[in-house]
Amino acid sequence: MAVGKQTANVTEWYGYTRETIIEETKNMNESEVLSAPIVEVIGLNKSYYRGNQIIPVLNDITFDICEGDFLALMGPSGSGKTTLLNLIAGIDKVDSGIIRVGGIDITTLSETELARWRGINVGFVFQFYNLIPVLTAFDNVELPLLLTNLPRKIRREHVEMALKVVNLADRMEHYPGQLSGGQQQRVAIARAIVTDPTILVADEPTGDLDRASAEEIMALMERLNAESGKTIIMVTHDPRAAGKAHTLKHLDKGVFNSDT
Ligand code: ADP
Ligand code: MG
Repeated sequence: MAVGKQTANVTEWYGYTRETIIEETKNMNESEVLSAPIVEVIGLNKSYYRGNQIIPVLNDITFDICEGDFLALMGPSGSGKTTLLNLIAGIDKVDSGIIRVGGIDITTLSETELARWRGINVGFVFQFYNLIPVLTAFDNVELPLLLTNLPRKIRREHVEMALKVVNLADRMEHYPGQLSGGQQQRVAIARAIVTDPTILVADEPTGDLDRASAEEIMALMERLNAESGKTIIMVTHDPRAAGKAHTLKHLDKGVFNSDT
């Protein structure tokens, strides 16, 4: 049986034809189309230990992030924003609770599995760019792809595409020291998207930038979300940056404010 015919039978089996699916999607409002959770956080707890002193950071946090959402996470310094971001990105380990990203409970993965998962599924943008100074923009962006089995020619295509998206195709051979802060952050964003990750996370990505560069970075994030449908989770202190997001959450002393 031809594959096309089989597919048609399966959709008919579930009572849907292509026409009814198109019709129903048309009738959905935007929030329904965005309703599939890509991140599910359930009963998350995290403390740090300094000697025998316990520092509770996140206290029984539960929330979802929808696929295609652009979430801004705000809150006073020390409220646990970076800790929460690092846990969702698989950089740090929970004390208890579940974090599902794309349906996978990352809290059950071993260190090795987690590192591999992160390489494919998470693009991370830091406040201070974290580029490697002795590598060119091209080589910095290629780094995450070295963990994949992609051949050199395909890697080059992906890197060139990512640098084009951030409008730096003409700076590929520049070193970080030869670029402005805003340009370095754009290289860091290219590095974060080059693997086409499930989630893009950013910890105060405009925190070290002047107003004009910050606006450029936010316009880029907005474009990645709107045009490529990237799910973005961004910590920020900047109300202008937060204004670009679709969902706003306020963290205070390890819990979400009730109005968010
Ligand atoms: P925010 O990003 O909202 O400013 P953080 O998540 O960085 O907050 O930190 C939350 C709390 O956890 C702070 O009190 C901080 O001092 C503490 N903390 C963060 N990381 C560590 C660590 N590695 N060891 C001990 N305490 C930490
Ligand atoms: Mg922080």
